[in-house]
Amino acid sequence: MIDIRSDTVTLPTSAMRQAMHTAEVGDDVYGDDPTVNRLQDMCAELLGQEAALFMPSGTQSNLVALLTHCQRGDEYIVGADAHTFKYEGGGAAALGGIQPQTIPFADNGELPLDQVTEQIKAKDVHFAVTRLLCLENTQHGRVQTIDYMNRARLLADANGLLLHLDGARMANAAVALGVSLEDVSKPFHTVSLCLSKGLGAPVGSVLLGDKAFIEQALRWRKVTGGGMRQAGILAAAGILAITDGFARLHEDHEHAQQLAGHLSRVAGVNVRSGWTQSNMVWLDYDSIEGVDHGHALPAYAKERGVRMSAGRNAGRLVLHSGVSADDVSTVADVVAGYFKQHFS
Ligand SMILES: *Cc1c(COP(=O)(O)O)cnc(C)c1O
Repeated sequence: MIDIRSDTVTLPTSAMRQAMHTAEVGDDVYGDDPTVNRLQDMCAELLGQEAALFMPSGTQSNLVALLTHCQRGDEYIVGADAHTFKYEGGGAAALGGIQPQTIPFADNGELPLDQVTEQIKAKDVHFAVTRLLCLENTQHGRVQTIDYMNRARLLADANGLLLHLDGARMANAAVALGVSLEDVSKPFHTVSLCLSKGLGAPVGSVLLGDKAFIEQALRWRKVTGGGMRQAGILAAAGILAITDGFARLHEDHEHAQQLAGHLSRVAGVNVRSGWTQSNMVWLDYDSIEGVDHGHALPAYAKERGVRMSAGRNAGRLVLHSGVSADDVSTVADVVAGYFKQHFS
């Protein structure tokens, strides 16, 4: 089966399994796990932040950042389609009493900064206290430029806001921009990076910021049940994710370009223009009377060895280490075959 539902489906490499097997470990709640400490030090160095904290998931990493930055009755400004708002179970509100102020993303994945400014609340007892601006890179595969991030930081500084990056796929952004992880991370007070997406680790994210922030975040990690013990078993794979996994990410971007190229010639399929910037291809499907592509397309593909997800009239295809150049052609052929039934 070729699985293009997400880059979370990657399986640990044999080098990762070997590193996990031999990892030196200790009780990380006591700070005693040398492999976790090594991963955290490596990430802090690579991203140019003072300190790092190994987290079980990206959701928990973002949640802990929000809980650390914001008090009950505070507000964060966030994209209406952002992971930290829409795809994290309302955790900030449910567990932190933190109110989201959403803004729709522009077609390039930016939160328009004039709209951000408009939403910052004045000091007034009627209003929540606007504390934080949360951005995402990549956003649905769209790469955010360093220039935009720098302008967001200037806005944050001018208004006394903190700036957090949901950098689940910031490694893809760095590769696409041809810059370092530090360049992508630098404009932010805090950053969350996923090791378990395209970088290929089985589990784990890293939260980064200054030492005072990480000290507080350590407490919130424990409160939210994220204090793991001999977590070096997982961190060992995480170390290979940020070395070997990072080194091969460009292949996924090349495959995404190839796939977008093939699919742009298929009647019934519209490759979302300008969105193929990293490891995702976004598609809009022409509607067909009586057909729900969300059911019919994945079912057709599954019978032909491709696992994919689709909405009724749109969907994304995600490239990762488990998808070869040959697989790209197979996926394109299968999608083309499905639409040929209707559009030939
Ligand atoms: C995957 C993802 C996360 C975190 O997800 P987990 O599955 O909890 O690790 C956060 N933000 C974005 C944009 C993501 O894609």
